[in-house]
Amino acid sequence: MISKEDIIKRFVSYVTVDTESDPESDTTPSTAKQWDLANALVNELKAIGMQDVSIDENAYIMATLPSNVDHDVPTIGYISHFDTTPDFTGANVKPQIIENYDGKDIILNEAENIILSPDYFEDLLLYKGQTLITTDGTTLLGADDKAGICEIISAMEYLIQHPEIKHGTIRVGFTPDEEIGRGAHKFDVERFGADWAYTMDGSQIGELEYENFNAAGAKVKIKGKIVHPGYAKGKMVNSMYIATEFINALPRMETPEHTEDYQGFFHLYSIDGKVDETTLQYIIRDHDKDHFEARKEVLQKLTNDINTQYGREVVTIEISDQYFNMKEKVEPVMHIVNIAEDAMKQLNITPLIKPIRGGTDGSQLSYMGLPCPNIFAGGHNFHGRYEYVPVESMIKATEVICKIAELTAKKS
Ligand SMILES: [Zn+2]
Repeated sequence: MISKEDIIKRFVSYVTVDTESDPESDTTPSTAKQWDLANALVNELKAIGMQDVSIDENAYIMATLPSNVDHDVPTIGYISHFDTTPDFTGANVKPQIIENYDGKDIILNEAENIILSPDYFEDLLLYKGQTLITTDGTTLLGADDKAGICEIISAMEYLIQHPEIKHGTIRVGFTPDEEIGRGAHKFDVERFGADWAYTMDGSQIGELEYENFNAAGAKVKIKGKIVHPGYAKGKMVNSMYIATEFINALPRMETPEHTEDYQGFFHLYSIDGKVDETTLQYIIRDHDKDHFEARKEVLQKLTNDINTQYGREVVTIEISDQYFNMKEKVEPVMHIVNIAEDAMKQLNITPLIKPIRGGTDGSQLSYMGLPCPNIFAGGHNFHGRYEYVPVESMIKATEVICKIAELTAKKS
């Protein structure tokens, strides 16, 4: 349907614009340079014939493809983000096109000896014979999530050019700042006005996700007593040793490096210690709501136990929820997952349905009233120099977008 050349041209035009977001900034978008691509996307949406194209003061873009049937069809939405992660530079991206990939090492950068190899990244072998887009080894690629934007716009263009494909009203939403956890924050769900939506922000072809972690953060402060070491007997309290007790009281195997699939964890990601005071920072993750609550109680109980043991408040803990498993909001409307699954099967794509070990904008949007599973956009190795995307996967994602719209109109 859509030509490889068109997809490549469109994708390259996006990734060559730097849109790195910045967690230190308070503005939305967090970096002014995100406007460069945002404004270009607005022009492009208008140029392909989308209606009600809008961009607000925070650079959130929305557009409509009107229904072409006379019966009532639910309004569906497609969402992706145009920022790239601050984890790795997204400036001066120089995409390389590898045609008819032979399954061997890809030299990303000869001068710096940077190689993309199936020895480390076995997934590459899934794409033998396909066209890959890679970096030149010095930047990320930005397939996360400019692949999603490319697919959504390509699908809308295709539907506009092929009115024989029947569909209801389709809404499109592009957001800034997803990579710093703020993509959904200022998303006007009511104005978007869709019954449900899909984020096109997954990885490998076939991915379809509607379960993610429940997430909380915990800041543990431990108070010691600083005294001259020469006069310390019976007086000094070293907060770092109490911190060690705290750390060791938690199950060592329930950590990210020892868990997978539906297993939750406590993740200690920072220690800042002196004799007088030590701060531990944890994140808590669990797909299961009850287990998630139980994990928070474990931390609270441990805090209380240590305080009892010392006979005073040496430990204080602040636990704050971050996001929740979208499953709770999606399960009551499971047909929205089933339609996506059917669409993939009809296109000979094997659906890979698995829980996300993280969160997405879709999880926040689901709790804001817009149920929002996540679909593959095709890229691999996000957030670094080894990022790549097979063009064939992007074409398949574009077809999935069109097929979901078609099936939604048929089923209603
Ligand atoms: Zn993303």
